[in-house]
Amino acid sequence: MGRLRMIVLLAAATAGMAVTNAGPLQAAEKTPRVDVFLSFDTEDYLLPASDDAARRLAEMLTEKGIRATFRVVGEKARTLQRRGRTDVIAALRKHDIGYHTNLHSVHPTVSEYLADCGLLDGVAEFVRREKRGADDVRRVFGLKTLTCYCQPGASWASQAVVALDQIGVGPVCAEIGTHIGLQDKPFWAANVLNVYEMGEYYTDMALHDPAALEPAKAKVSQIVERLRGEGGGLISIGYHPCDWVHRQFWDATNFRHGANPPREQWKAPPQRPAEETERAFAQFAEYIDHIRSLGVQFVTAGELPAIYADRLRTEGVTEPELLQLARTLADDRATGVDFQIMNGRSVSPADQFELLTAAVGNLAEGGPTAFPLKAGGILGPDSPPGQDVQGGRTITWEAFRDAVVDVRDYLRAHNRVPPRVFIGADYVAPADFLGGLAAAWCHYAEHHSRPPEGVRLGKNRAVLTERHVAEKPVTPFTWSIHKPNLSLARILDVARLQAWTLKPAIRQ
Ligand SMILES: [Zn+2]
Repeated sequence: MGRLRMIVLLAAATAGMAVTNAGPLQAAEKTPRVDVFLSFDTEDYLLPASDDAARRLAEMLTEKGIRATFRVVGEKARTLQRRGRTDVIAALRKHDIGYHTNLHSVHPTVSEYLADCGLLDGVAEFVRREKRGADDVRRVFGLKTLTCYCQPGASWASQAVVALDQIGVGPVCAEIGTHIGLQDKPFWAANVLNVYEMGEYYTDMALHDPAALEPAKAKVSQIVERLRGEGGGLISIGYHPCDWVHRQFWDATNFRHGANPPREQWKAPPQRPAEETERAFAQFAEYIDHIRSLGVQFVTAGELPAIYADRLRTEGVTEPELLQLARTLADDRATGVDFQIMNGRSVSPADQFELLTAAVGNLAEGGPTAFPLKAGGILGPDSPPGQDVQGGRTITWEAFRDAVVDVRDYLRAHNRVPPRVFIGADYVAPADFLGGLAAAWCHYAEHHSRPPEGVRLGKNRAVLTERHVAEKPVTPFTWSIHKPNLSLARILDVARLQAWTLKPAIRQ
């Protein structure tokens, strides 16, 4: 009997019990774990039947022992309350509740109001517009926190990601899009776990096409097998409850291509006949039963931060590990700064900057460095360095020392990589300064605790993680709700600066 078949039979034998328990997995303990992140964008506040669809999905999954993640729009939560749908709220509350913006498609949408913002004004604007919706979802559902954020329309903006803790949303950003991604796997950016560009590891099934069921089942089986071959991993599957009941998306009915009718003129989308909805529920149940039979674990957004725990934050690095990080950075053949993996811990360029500023800063101020040294997670710079960068020079230890002390003060004040580092009247780009930090630390470690006489700064070092952000011209923003010709180049520029914080999320 093949191992997979054995798992299938074991899973079938335990049908009806929660698949998140360890039953089937204990029996096949050597099978790498495959997690399925099943999420529902719960957003249609116009067609009342979408309330029933959300409730029915939540109840169906609860009966199957599966917890999913429902990402709720602020206006949807208020609407449920206004319609007296405590039954829907109670059914959804048995699952994980995330946040899907205040108004979703009313203009300006998130991408529209962030399109011309930098980092800091963008964060402030996001908090101003979106905190009220998060407050309402929490209030209506009686929750202290929401587990994740999802930006409408296959969009992603680093300002939103940075702002999540300010609106009381947990450190997970989950959506499906293509303009930032790392190896088709979850990644950390700005201290938030992102399940975004998942490539082959995202899948779903067309609900209203009977011919879609078998190929969708085959596809998910294939992904599970592939992930088991890779030692385990995550599959992302996303739906909208309204899809079960409408003929057209609620927002396309009202807000297409920048259209913005006043609230009094919002129209409910046309509804499907009941038999089509019934068929879709039956087909979806069959699809989910198939996935469950594969012996996977269903995980929620709230569980993901522990599954991908960032051990650098809790364990830090040892002295030999810091030296290894510095040697990689100081290598003359290095063309830039990239993330590094250090014994199962992921270290972003910003983490490297933070760790080495702390260690060399202690050296500059004559104090010892206590190891393991932890990185709390600073952000990337709020702007590019400017044109007049003066890298590639060797400067005196005294000049470098004073700059390090100033950078350390900047980090304490702003918790971000500085956009430029002054050496007297001139400045260098932070990536070139990081080359100097690495060279200074290597010299100190290799010459028995003596600082160097001179420090060579890097020259035109790239932040290599920027390559994981889509290039211009921007094609991925194709959501039909956006106003025509919306330029999102600036959003990507700001995202590129936050690529300092990009690093793979490692399963623990
Ligand atoms: Zn949505």
